[in-house]
Amino acid sequence: MKILRAFKTELDLNNQQKTACARHAGAARFAYNWGLARKQAAFANGEKVPSAIDLHRELNALKKSELSWLYEVSKCAPQEALCDLEQAFAHFFRRVKEKKSGKNVKVGFPRIKSKKHGLGSFRLTGAIHVFEKAIQLPRLGQLHLKERGYLPTSGVHILSATVSEKGGCWFVSLQVAMEIPDPVMEEKPVAGVDLGINRMAQVSDGTYFENPRALKSALTKLKRLQRVVSRRQKGSANRQKAVRQLAKAHLRVANIRKDALHQATTSLTKTKSAIMLENLNVSAMMQNHPLAQAIADVGMYEFRRQLAYKGAWYGCEVWLADRFFPSTKRCSQCGNEKAVSLAERVYACEHCGQRMDRDLNAAINLEQLLYC
Ligand SMILES: [Zn+2]
Repeated sequence: MKILRAFKTELDLNNQQKTACARHAGAARFAYNWGLARKQAAFANGEKVPSAIDLHRELNALKKSELSWLYEVSKCAPQEALCDLEQAFAHFFRRVKEKKSGKNVKVGFPRIKSKKHGLGSFRLTGAIHVFEKAIQLPRLGQLHLKERGYLPTSGVHILSATVSEKGGCWFVSLQVAMEIPDPVMEEKPVAGVDLGINRMAQVSDGTYFENPRALKSALTKLKRLQRVVSRRQKGSANRQKAVRQLAKAHLRVANIRKDALHQATTSLTKTKSAIMLENLNVSAMMQNHPLAQAIADVGMYEFRRQLAYKGAWYGCEVWLADRFFPSTKRCSQCGNEKAVSLAERVYACEHCGQRMDRDLNAAINLEQLLYC
């Protein structure tokens, strides 16, 4: 079975390489913002809105005169940025359509890319080679990798490489097409999975995945640094330093969370033949839920996304329960339903007397849906 996947790892760059990468990211950001402005101007003037190909042609012509600095970077960087812009508009028009058909979505017009959140990223295609300790990219040459042997050196077809900066660190994400063995139809059990706030995921067989302990302390540190930044005077060197520390802390939280999610979703899709998940309306919960922060930290969307694609790799069907399925309210033993407050950690059934951890009760209810 042929699959597409990405491998992301940190780069170990010298100052010259950092400057070159920053220049590429700058070119990508410039092209994106320039293209966005061109599209908006054309629309405002009632002219034909230029496509990615039109914009690419126009930009190439400008390169010969006022934008000669673009010769210093790979031609892919601005070109791919214009493709991204086209994608952003495609998503925008799709959301407009969805909104018109009555769906509750935020339309969100494509926005300019600012340097506020770091230097950004750029994507390269063409001659890309991976070695044990380095990756070779067009124009940038060989860039050292911090972790050896993570990127695949053979057996894959490389499609592109995206280089990005976050918190002062540089990363490369390699997009590849690769062949993996077709999933074999083994006898594997099925399970219901309840995504929680106290525990990352409770499985109906009684096992569970904890939120990593490191996440809590990393979050505390993040909050503290956020306060430090807001206290520092704008434009001061001390504030800049605090902003850099904050970006690092953000990165750490995101990494801890991602690692934990990957472990859980790999383990689940490899050991189960079907999984039933709760279909939470995550975006609605985020808006008006006091636990929005905690929910965001568990990364429910990411959890679902990973389960879906890994399910296809390892032969595990992933199902979503109906949004109104009362997984928390229902007793998994007798089917009686009652209101359960968030504070109640134990589900106590007045009807049949069952007492059970509330998340486990919910997970068992979800599993039972698979037999319907
Ligand atoms: Zn009961």
